[in-house]
Amino acid sequence: MTVERRASRIRQDKGAGPRQPRPPRGQSVRAHRRGVSAALTERLRGPLEELYREFDYGARVERDAIRFPLHYPDPRDREIVALLTACLAYGRVDLFSAQLHGVLGVMASPYAFVREFDPERQRDVFRDFIYRFNRPRDIVAFCVATRDILLRHGTLEQCFLAGDPDPAGPITAALERFARTFLDADLLPVFPHGRLSRGYRHLFPLPSAGGPCKRLHLFLRWMVRREKPDFGLWTAVAPARLLMPIDTHVENMSRAIGLTRRRSRNWRMAEEITARLAEIDPTDPVKFDFALCHKRMSGDCLDRRDAVVCAPCGLRGVCRHWARGRTTPA
Ligand code: SF4
Repeated sequence: MTVERRASRIRQDKGAGPRQPRPPRGQSVRAHRRGVSAALTERLRGPLEELYREFDYGARVERDAIRFPLHYPDPRDREIVALLTACLAYGRVDLFSAQLHGVLGVMASPYAFVREFDPERQRDVFRDFIYRFNRPRDIVAFCVATRDILLRHGTLEQCFLAGDPDPAGPITAALERFARTFLDADLLPVFPHGRLSRGYRHLFPLPSAGGPCKRLHLFLRWMVRREKPDFGLWTAVAPARLLMPIDTHVENMSRAIGLTRRRSRNWRMAEEITARLAEIDPTDPVKFDFALCHKRMSGDCLDRRDAVVCAPCGLRGVCRHWARGRTTPA
């Protein structure tokens, strides 16, 4: 790799992207960048708002992990199921769905089940569970930690709020403390040597580790956003504070329409994409998540220029795959 290409890569990973054209004479670089960014935001606004408005949520909800908590009308059950579902939502939905069905199948009311959970008596209840990094003892540990949190705080929302240092500030510190509560729980009955399993740690990623923490952001989106398909149960947290849950689909879509140029999917990418979307809707920047994710997941976007698939796409005018040689698709 040439020195120039390597420098370009480093710039891109820092979010700077390829070298930009010089600003016009008399204009500072910063003011020029602000102008370019504002122009891009204006080009994105219409197509993204239309995608959000017109998206057929009903057709996709049953293909999404949100369907698990959605099936529980009691908010106390829904909160527990949402967290467990989000924690396991790595990999393909159809792969973890069968395992999650098995876990939820032993709980008539997930809230009541977890509140009364006794690891001595019930440690074998999840014996058939196995999903990638996770084993039955991870689910047992989840139940023990969640039981103790419910006993102390009443609800997961109250636990989150207790660790939130600034209800108007960034979500990072609150999310870190929320995840830590599960990692710091007294889990000696499950892990007698005092070492958490890798699978259990995987359920609760920490923002301070720098990863995108997609599953925690997804859980927050479900609980906090007031509009469908989300639940709006956590009314004390403002949707404006949420960050985008970045998975491979959202990452691809975000690159295609210029929301990010970063190469690494990490916390900073989540912040950058969210900041971009907040320029369009500062009160609810993650409202675009479901539609962007499912557009790609469903095959309505192939992340490449395709005359047939791209023909009905409202994002074509802002898509990098159509940036050069704008030919009208068939
Ligand atoms: S124009 Fe095509 S590649 Fe671009 S976002 Fe739309 S469907 Fe995807």
